[in-house]
Amino acid sequence: MEQKQSLATICIQGGWQPKNGEPRVLPIYQSTTFKYETSEQMGRLFDLEEDGYFYTRLANPTNDAVASKICALEGGAAAMLTSSGQAANMYAILNICSAGDHVVSSATIYGGTSNLLTVTLKRFGIECTLVDPDASAEELEKAFQPNTRAVFGETIANPALVVLDIEKFAALAHEHGVPLIVDNTFATPINCRPFEWGADIVTHSTTKYMDGHAMAVGGCIVDSGNFDWEANAERFPGLTTPDDSYHGVVYTKKFGKAAFIMKATAQLMRDMGSIQSPQNAFLLNVGLETLHLRVPRHCENALKVAEYLQSRDDVAWVKYPGLKGDPYYELAQKYMPHGTCGVISFGLKGGRAAAGAFMDKLKLAAIVTHVADARTSVLHPASHTHRQLSDEQLVEAGVDPSLIRLSVGIEDANDIIADLEQAFV
Ligand SMILES: *Cc1c(COP(=O)(O)O)cnc(C)c1O
Repeated sequence: MEQKQSLATICIQGGWQPKNGEPRVLPIYQSTTFKYETSEQMGRLFDLEEDGYFYTRLANPTNDAVASKICALEGGAAAMLTSSGQAANMYAILNICSAGDHVVSSATIYGGTSNLLTVTLKRFGIECTLVDPDASAEELEKAFQPNTRAVFGETIANPALVVLDIEKFAALAHEHGVPLIVDNTFATPINCRPFEWGADIVTHSTTKYMDGHAMAVGGCIVDSGNFDWEANAERFPGLTTPDDSYHGVVYTKKFGKAAFIMKATAQLMRDMGSIQSPQNAFLLNVGLETLHLRVPRHCENALKVAEYLQSRDDVAWVKYPGLKGDPYYELAQKYMPHGTCGVISFGLKGGRAAAGAFMDKLKLAAIVTHVADARTSVLHPASHTHRQLSDEQLVEAGVDPSLIRLSVGIEDANDIIADLEQAFV
């Protein structure tokens, strides 16, 4: 029912549908545990024979309501919240990859995800090949191996602002019988719904625009329900063969389109934790209620600021996929005709050294390790988020050492521009 409503209505009313006499506002189920009348009833929950809650590490009603709102916004079949965006990406991969498996990922992704894929998961025996997202299909083809189990990319890469050609990546993934996982954090479902372009699984750092106020770290995984695990059963035994830790349940058989999310909840969340706190889920829900209003304003302000920066002689370059002439403008028009995001990257003619001096003079824009909230903020990835990467690796990840990442907020655009103006002099 929800998916037929417009995004604005889902933002406000999706997820929590109170019954007669229940609270109008989503309640915070601040409880680790849930009570049952009989031992038998609780036992059935442990066997996945019945829907219900027993322990918040696996599921909580507040979280489920918020996950189902995000699921409806993305047009998915099932969704779950996680404690962070990192946990969402880790679970999305670990739910289908084990030691000996391989992932193909766009090289221009968030620094944390790049570390996860190339350093940490490597220690788990999962290999990753990073590819240039702009390479031709023939070139990308070479990255695939017989043990490839997933393809990964970001709709708009943080902080490189490279727009992923989702259709190209989806076609490649499907030719090789594996799903495309897209981190849709920067675009949000307001601007892009990757399932409409062939992506199979979407992840989010809800910490960014979805929360929108820099209050709560969180993540989400949404499954489209479209990927046919059984048609590729030998590649995904975790989903298509009995799970001994649940009395031999076969997820695809028992849960159909919800198989991926059920497995991630029943297995990964059970064994590894990383649940979002219901308190944070409540805050996230408040953020989501205005997502459809905030995102267009972020985009409108960012375009004005990008145009201003482009007009200045002391600015060496500006990257913003919403800006005409940007290398990703055409792709952005295709996938995000109503706007991209509020994040701009630019470099000063003075390079790496000038970046610090410029940022220190800003008053309204704060230096923070964050993007995509209501307040304008600024960061120098080479000195901050990406400081563990060499200059060579920075360039490979699409991060120029001079790059300043400006996250344009929803203050008055003229005030944001005035703040930048005074920092140039
Ligand atoms: C921030 C971010 C992450 C990590 O999310 P956390 O909530 O900080 O764990 C992952 N992907 C993208 C694109 C991000 O911007």
